[in-house]
Amino acid sequence: MTAELPKHASVAIIGGGVIGASVAWHLTHLGLTDVVVLERGQLACGTTWHSAGNILRMSSDPATIGIYTYGVEFLTALQARHDVGWRQCGRMMVARTEARLKDFEAMARTLQACGVPVELVSADEVAAKIPVMHTDDLAGALWSPDDGRVNPTDLVAAYARESKAHGARFCEGVAADRALTDGSRVTSIATDHGEMGCDVVVNCAGLWARALGLRNGVAIPAYPVEHFYLLTETIEGTSPQMPTFRDPDGLIYGREEVGGLLVGCFDREAIPVPPEDLPEPFFFALLNENWDQFAPYMDEAIHRIPALGHAGVRTLLNGPEAFTPDAEPLLDVAPGLENYFVLAGLSSAGVTRSAGMGRALAHWIVDGDPGSDVSSFSLTRFRPEHNETAFLRSAVRAAPSGHFDTGH
Ligand SMILES: Cc1cc2nc3c(=O)[nH]c(=O)nc-3n(C[C@H](O)[C@H](O)[C@H](O)COP(=O)(O)OP(=O)(O)OC[C@H]3O[C@@H](n4cnc5c(N)ncnc54)[C@H](O)[C@@H]3O)c2cc1C
Repeated sequence: MTAELPKHASVAIIGGGVIGASVAWHLTHLGLTDVVVLERGQLACGTTWHSAGNILRMSSDPATIGIYTYGVEFLTALQARHDVGWRQCGRMMVARTEARLKDFEAMARTLQACGVPVELVSADEVAAKIPVMHTDDLAGALWSPDDGRVNPTDLVAAYARESKAHGARFCEGVAADRALTDGSRVTSIATDHGEMGCDVVVNCAGLWARALGLRNGVAIPAYPVEHFYLLTETIEGTSPQMPTFRDPDGLIYGREEVGGLLVGCFDREAIPVPPEDLPEPFFFALLNENWDQFAPYMDEAIHRIPALGHAGVRTLLNGPEAFTPDAEPLLDVAPGLENYFVLAGLSSAGVTRSAGMGRALAHWIVDGDPGSDVSSFSLTRFRPEHNETAFLRSAVRAAPSGHFDTGH
């Protein structure tokens, strides 16, 4: 990795998280060797390093299902070449009510029609697969054997290693300031290490993408909120192959982690985090534990996994994650700037979405077409006022739970 800035790149990618690294991988594997990733800190130092790394397959949206399917195939192939911690342990999405189970039935039909092997299972089958789970109050569950988990930092390293082998350069310690333009075209990037010419720029700057976009008049309505998970000491009855789980009625999710549990929540009233208030630099950094905010979800988690009530707690991890108002990501070319692309606002599924969305964006740049329907991720589904700070800070409060509640 180097901070030496080339004079020119065919594609300049701003941000070396899981998204920027995937875009670099897919561009280079489509034959574009002259790709440069600008990362102001180190690879994965933003949000990616502390992600829970759960890899999803369930969605009711066929476009998203296609992205998730490719992601699972990609990880399976990648794991054969590098150990990225990919473990296909399956996922159990539990229903507390018959109404919830009906929603799962509809989702299962869509998933099955897209070739995803999911099935509805009974509470007893949940108990057999996740012995630490309290299941008496469950109406049933949706079981997806193909879901899994990955180590996000190792994934970024693997994306980068294979991209470099195909010619990409990763410039760490280089901060992009803005794109320089000639009419409706970007011609170069201004950085703290000077200017670099480019044919295309991609903004993958995570929770900083919006501020970066605003410097070029590009509206990227994504804003970070506090996002939590708890890590416990050892809990008897867990195992590395235990499925990941989601309990949408309690807004909690979890999985095994080094003999204990990782349990997170999708907050009903998430707390916005103004990016400008974060300490500078914010590399491999976290927010303070916030037990008051997590308390209701801790109760839900103890209800679902009673052993949590007496497990030792290692930490309550609190990291910022950028959500869009509708919790769907943004993948588009900027209106008015024909060679400025955006892939941001991953809304707590960036690791899952990295391969599929990175591939779509790479095809868009190389072939002029993403190769799949990405219209639901467009920037133009939002109006200019949706990028105003006051609106966003209010809108993203409900985004995590709204998104989670649908089971996506
Ligand atoms: C607690 C928590 C749990 C999560 N769990 C999951 C999960 O289980 N599964 C899942 O799929 N997702 C999960 N996520 C979400 C996932 O981690 C993110 O969606 C993903 O990491 C976002 O990746 P990114 O590359 O967009 O952003 P980042 O990783 O933040 O990368 C952006 C990079 O851009 C760099 N940068 C910013 N501005 C500039 C600039 N001007 N010049 C140069 N570089 C710049 C930053 O330094 C940063 O490294 C979780 C998130 C959190 C917080």
